[in-house]
Amino acid sequence: MKDVSTGCFILSLDFELHWGIFDKKNVADYEENLRNVKLVIPRLIELANAYNIKLTFATIGFLFAKNKEDLLNNNPKLLPSYSNKKFSPYSILNEIGKDETEDEYHYASRLIELISKSKNHEIATHTYSHYYCLEDGQTKEQFEADLIAAIAVATRRNTVIKSIIFPRNQVNEAYLDICKKHGLTSYRGTEKHSIYNTIDRKFNKKQSTRALRLIDSYINLTGHQTYKLNQVNKDTEILNIPSSRFLRPYSQSLKMFESLKTARVKNAMTYAAMHNEMYHLWWHPHNFGKNIDENFEIIESIFKHYNKLNETYNFNNLTMSEIADSN
Ligand SMILES: [Zn+2]
Repeated sequence: MKDVSTGCFILSLDFELHWGIFDKKNVADYEENLRNVKLVIPRLIELANAYNIKLTFATIGFLFAKNKEDLLNNNPKLLPSYSNKKFSPYSILNEIGKDETEDEYHYASRLIELISKSKNHEIATHTYSHYYCLEDGQTKEQFEADLIAAIAVATRRNTVIKSIIFPRNQVNEAYLDICKKHGLTSYRGTEKHSIYNTIDRKFNKKQSTRALRLIDSYINLTGHQTYKLNQVNKDTEILNIPSSRFLRPYSQSLKMFESLKTARVKNAMTYAAMHNEMYHLWWHPHNFGKNIDENFEIIESIFKHYNKLNETYNFNNLTMSEIADSN
């Protein structure tokens, strides 16, 4: 039994490489960020270990494949029938390389190996195919087939999948019983404020909503977004461990505001530590793929702040499945 009577710091990363953005960007548009994930993950693990921090890597199922044949064999029995065809990654399978050596943007078995070898950290799922649970046209049966495939590829590498992070944070509550049926114990929900609500697809994508989310990263518009688990979990199938904040990457154009962004995170962490609440920070490894040193400087200062809060308030740090196990 882990101790979550004190506050707790949770860090999750959506590990997806090009599969997370294939419907928005070509590899060439985002090449530097994607290419450097192979530097970011080992460096992040080393730094997290140095500060006794545990990370949860929600990993896309496609990334487990060693080569294309392996990937095609792993594919689910039922594929998503999105009304908008651009959401289906199966349409780009003919464009990807034959294995990890030839194509480091669509395969990552070596990095997954590295994460699982460094025992502290959790490998969770980000679905098999970056599955969009709230988009039109797809069905619950298709989601289940996707999840079964995600669990199967991990099982083949002796990894037990216990937690899920829904792509684009599209939490479909009607699908949580499927997650429970397949042994998952927790998911990352969204912040409790309308600008973070992903259910109203139009509102979520509006430019004004996106602008408010951006400003909220620097200035406190929506509160600390810390919480007590029992207050956000009433009759849920599996434990909701909502996001508190997306850690935006270092921005050259907004660099004068970087200290505000970091202070916003640290102030909320302090609030959580003092009030025995949860604080859940997340980002993608590829967010650190550009301005690598600047991004690492920020995350190290956050890790240092955690260590201080741990000493002063016994502020804890667990992976998502450890939180679920302790409940
Ligand atoms: Zn994603």
